[in-house]
Amino acid sequence: MTNDEGNERPRKIIHVDMDAFYASVEQRDNPELRGLPVAVGYPAARGVVAAANYEARKFGVHSAMPSVTAQRKCPDLIFVRPRFDVYKAVSLQIRAIFAEYTPMIEPLSLDEAYLDVTENLKDMEIATEIAAEIRAKIKQVTGLNASAGISYNKFLAKMASDLNKPNGQAVITPKNGQAFVEALPVKKFHGVGPTTAEKMHRLGIETGADLKDKTLEFLVEHFGKSGPYFYGIARGIDNRQVKPDRVRKSVGAEDTFSEDIQSYGPAREGLQPLIEKVWGYCEANEIGAKTVKLKVKYADFSQITRSKTVPAPLQTIGDLEEVVGLLLAPIFPPRRGIRLLGVTLSSLERRTFGVAPQLRLAL
Ligand SMILES: [Mg+2]
Repeated sequence: MTNDEGNERPRKIIHVDMDAFYASVEQRDNPELRGLPVAVGYPAARGVVAAANYEARKFGVHSAMPSVTAQRKCPDLIFVRPRFDVYKAVSLQIRAIFAEYTPMIEPLSLDEAYLDVTENLKDMEIATEIAAEIRAKIKQVTGLNASAGISYNKFLAKMASDLNKPNGQAVITPKNGQAFVEALPVKKFHGVGPTTAEKMHRLGIETGADLKDKTLEFLVEHFGKSGPYFYGIARGIDNRQVKPDRVRKSVGAEDTFSEDIQSYGPAREGLQPLIEKVWGYCEANEIGAKTVKLKVKYADFSQITRSKTVPAPLQTIGDLEEVVGLLLAPIFPPRRGIRLLGVTLSSLERRTFGVAPQLRLAL
C-alpha cells in the first residue's frame, strides 16, 4: 500500500487521552469526592470550569463553562481549586510510559498525546495491544483511566479515542476509515471549531459525505489553507506526521468573563488560572520563555496588548506572576469594562526544569 507521501505501508498511530484528567486526579487524591459531581476551577463569579468529572457532565456541566452556569445546572457541584503542579507531575509519569514504547510522542496537552508506534521499542506488531498495555500501565502507575484511539493517521486516531470513552479504546482500520468519516457530522471533526462548523452548515455540509462531495477548489475557495486538509480527511487521508519535537512559537491561554471586569483585584484573580495553565504547559514540555504578552479585550471588543521581554527565560511561576502584574497594573482604571484577558508566552526555547517535578506543596 502506498499513500500520498510514498510511504511503503500504513502507519500505526495511537491517540491517548486521559479521562476527565484534572477532575480524576482530584478524585483520586480526595476519596471523599468520589461518586460526587466535581468541577476543577474557581467558583468565583468570573471563574470557569477547567474540567468536569463524568458525574458533573450528567448535569450538562463541561469545561470552559462559566462557574455560575455550572453551579446553576448542578446545584450540588463541588468546586476544587486546580493543582497544576500535580497534574504536571502525573503528566510526566504518563509521558515516561509512552517513552517505553516509542520516542515518537507528540503531546497536545498535559493529558493527551499522539504516538507513532509503526516502529516501536518493543517490536510489537499490533497497535491495539500496545494501546491496551499503555492504558493498563497508566492505571497501575497513576491510578487513573485513559482512553485510546488507534488508526492509520492522526485525525482518525483522535476521533477514535472518543468512541469508547471513558476507559475504553477503539480502532479505525484502513478498511473502515472512509465509511467512518462519511457518517461523521463535521461539527465533531477535530479541527472544525464552532465557527467553521457554522460556515459548513451554511454551505450545506453536515457530514463527512457532504464534505467529500465538494471539490478541492471549492474547499480552498471557502476555507483557504484548511481546504486541502478538509479535502483529505473527508477521504480518511491525513498525512501529518507525529512530531516529537514540535517547536511552538507561543503558548497562550485566554478567558472571557461572564461579567465585565472593572478593577485590578478581579482581573488579577481571573489571570491566575491562565498563568498556571501556560506555566504548567511550559514545565511539562520543558519550554523556557522570555516574552510575556498580556491581551485585554474591552466590552466594546476593542483590544490592546502589552508585552515585556526579559533577558533570560523566566525561572519560576512567581517570575511570570510578577511580569503579568507589571503589565496589568498600568491599565487600571480601565477605559471600559474588560471582557477578556489572555496571557501568551513567546521567545520560547528548550529548557530543563530539573529531574524532580517541583511540587509547590507545603511540607
Ligand atoms: Mg482528556
